[in-house]
Amino acid sequence: MRERAQLVICGAGIAGISAAYHLAARHRVQNIVLVEERAPLTLTSDKSTECYRNWWPGPGDAMVKFMNRSIDILEELARESANVFHMSRRGYVYATADPERIDALRRAGQEAAELGAGALRVHPGPDAYEPLTPEGFENKPVGSDLFTDPALIQKYFPYLDEKIVAVIHARRCGYFSAQTYGMYMLERARECGVRLVNARVEKIDTRGGRVRAAHLNNGAVIETEMLVNAGGPFVGEIGQMLGVALPVYSELHTKIILRDDLGVTPRDTPLLVWLDPQYIAWSEEERELFAEEPETRWLLERLPSGVHGRSEGRAGNPYFLLQWTVRHDPVSPTYPIPLDAQFPEVTLRALSTMLPGLKKYFGRLPALVMDGGYYTKTQENRPLIGPLPVEGAYIIGALSGYGMMGSSAAGDLLAAHVTGKKLPEYASAFLLSRYADPAYRELLKTWDQSGQI
Ligand SMILES: Cc1cc2nc3c(=O)[nH]c(=O)nc-3n(C[C@H](O)[C@H](O)[C@H](O)COP(=O)(O)OP(=O)(O)OC[C@H]3O[C@@H](n4cnc5c(N)ncnc54)[C@H](O)[C@@H]3O)c2cc1C
Repeated sequence: MRERAQLVICGAGIAGISAAYHLAARHRVQNIVLVEERAPLTLTSDKSTECYRNWWPGPGDAMVKFMNRSIDILEELARESANVFHMSRRGYVYATADPERIDALRRAGQEAAELGAGALRVHPGPDAYEPLTPEGFENKPVGSDLFTDPALIQKYFPYLDEKIVAVIHARRCGYFSAQTYGMYMLERARECGVRLVNARVEKIDTRGGRVRAAHLNNGAVIETEMLVNAGGPFVGEIGQMLGVALPVYSELHTKIILRDDLGVTPRDTPLLVWLDPQYIAWSEEERELFAEEPETRWLLERLPSGVHGRSEGRAGNPYFLLQWTVRHDPVSPTYPIPLDAQFPEVTLRALSTMLPGLKKYFGRLPALVMDGGYYTKTQENRPLIGPLPVEGAYIIGALSGYGMMGSSAAGDLLAAHVTGKKLPEYASAFLLSRYADPAYRELLKTWDQSGQI
């Protein structure tokens, strides 16, 4: 069977769906086919922790501008849909028990302010602190609030451990039901004519150096002059079909959702992020046991910072999400993803350093679900959005651990590239062609801040 499309999008995760939505609903591009071999949003995009933030490091302000634009669009969609995807803005709270880290926190707040994330307020200080309100996203502070007085930290965040010496509360951040947001955009895109085809793109015809057709595993051939690679963990494979090598790799990230029947976790948390590397507290018996086996010895080592968690949504909901990644080695994505049986206990213990209420579950984990997926990313943890060096081919990918929050600006940017509209300032920071610039390659050698948690 042969058919024709104006444009084919390969992959209906959040990237492909946002591209379809922005092209069809906002730019009125006709005859778009969205090809997806699974059910939409079910590979990586329904595994996220569903958080967003405009709090991103440099170099440069591209990531902050990109995320501010993304959050602007998310808010527009939340308003027009009567907040069907429950967008809230409780913030991210980064905490440390190490006095030597306080200056770094202050510098991070100042840098974020300079890059456009909003002013830093230090407490106690001239500005009053506005505590978070759990629901909604309108009329809330931006920027960040830094506390270095343990009494104030306990006053505003009484569930945090008493040994914490500093926290910074980043404000244009929060969470939302990312799956509902994705389905909302997919429905709007379909109303505007986007056709969803359940099949795998197996081959792309690029005779003469331009996109000509997508060949599907059901035998269908879609003739087209434009194709968008939105393959998530498989962007590299789709790149190969186009004859383009993409500088991406994948890391496995796992999370757990536990049912807190003992009620030890607070309900209205921001996202809680622990900034200190740590040794996990095990009993003497456990230590001896772990030391015996090569597969468990790592549990006794100094483990990295970054464990994070949050309450799941609204009052009366007993669920709490925890996420941490101890190993960041590049891996080939395989499904079902490998799950480590030790992950729930070790992650719960790691977050208990920040949220001591969790200690009640040591050695007797509650009912929980473990899942996860891959952060597919570039070396410097910035996305790839824009044209590829084959005429008519585009990419919206390498969205790493920020694809839900960044997808609105990513789809918006991709649509501007495809339709030839004015590009935002940050567009060049996300082009594949940036790697051809010797000055950029030089910058990469000393690029040590990825902003990843
Ligand atoms: C544990 C975890 C927590 C996370 N937390 C957050 C968070 O809090 N906030 C946030 O913003 N982001 C978060 N992320 C990141 C976010 O989930 C991803 O960046 C995002 O889902 C990537 O979307 P995608 O559309 O690029 O990929 P995917 O969702 O994987 O979609 C790609 C789609 O392409 C399809 N596909 C691939 N190849 C083909 C082919 N040849 N033919 C047809 N279809 C094909 C696949 O079936 C898939 O459905 C998290 C990720 C993980 C794993």
